Amino acid sequence: MSGSVNHAEKPGIVYETDEPVTYRVDEAGIAWITMNRPKYNNAQNSQMTYALDAAFVNAINDDAVKVIVLAGEGKHFSAGHDIGTPGRDVAKSFDRKMLLPDHVGKPGAEFLYTREQEVYLGMCRRWRDAPKATVAMVQGACIAGGLMLAWVCDLIVASEDAFFQDPVVRMGIPGVEYFAHAFELPPRVAKEFLLLGERMSAQRAESFGMVNRVVPRAELTEETQRIAIKLAAQPSLGVWLTKQAVNHVEELRGKRTAMDSVYHMHHFAHAQNDLVSGNALGGLDGKSMAAANKKQEGKA
Ligand code: ZN
Repeated sequence: MSGSVNHAEKPGIVYETDEPVTYRVDEAGIAWITMNRPKYNNAQNSQMTYALDAAFVNAINDDAVKVIVLAGEGKHFSAGHDIGTPGRDVAKSFDRKMLLPDHVGKPGAEFLYTREQEVYLGMCRRWRDAPKATVAMVQGACIAGGLMLAWVCDLIVASEDAFFQDPVVRMGIPGVEYFAHAFELPPRVAKEFLLLGERMSAQRAESFGMVNRVVPRAELTEETQRIAIKLAAQPSLGVWLTKQAVNHVEELRGKRTAMDSVYHMHHFAHAQNDLVSGNALGGLDGKSMAAANKKQEGKA
């Protein structure tokens, strides 16, 4: 814990931890990559995203690792991208992992367009194509940017209390940057999911094949581990080829092209928000989004 000490170079950023992701490899060859900002429901800042990427790189480079589990510490898997914690570090430079320039200092819409190519779309595609099997272990909230992390995994195991939601249409934006909605859900359900922005229960998500298993919260880790052990016992190259085969079919169905096209709509919306309101998120932050969600769920 770094307390209130500011380790960031940019003034105004206060990281509550120096370890936004934990990494552990067990004796079964399972790498447990765990988002570790429970205080902020695992809101993803760049500090976390680059730590996640480093963990994926470790897991890929280690031949002892056969399967990767992506999890979130605490009550929730992930409340999404960090749009309002003290550790929000959108304007901070990091060493890029894609062949992209630094977004910091870029004028107008180029700033976010460049950043999100790297930090959201680029990273998600990179992890989705990892040459080892990946399993998302999802409890509680899996919202917006949280969906992206669950969706890039090969399998999703959810607890009964898990729910899925993409409420960013409220910001005037057509869904999160990794636009897999219409691939993960039937088109009409994807429209409902986005247009109403309501929570989808794990049980309903399972009915569309968006998640593989729904288990009681107390059995989530055990069930995930059980599946991961089975995956770890499969031949490594066979697993890699098999996931590539299915990913390839998705590409033939236009997944990558669809995402590229929607990414541009997403950034047109960011730019429009900026022009109209002076804020790329339409003036909404974590608090106001949470309040609007509560109101929608009839809790306020
Ligand atoms: Zn965005």
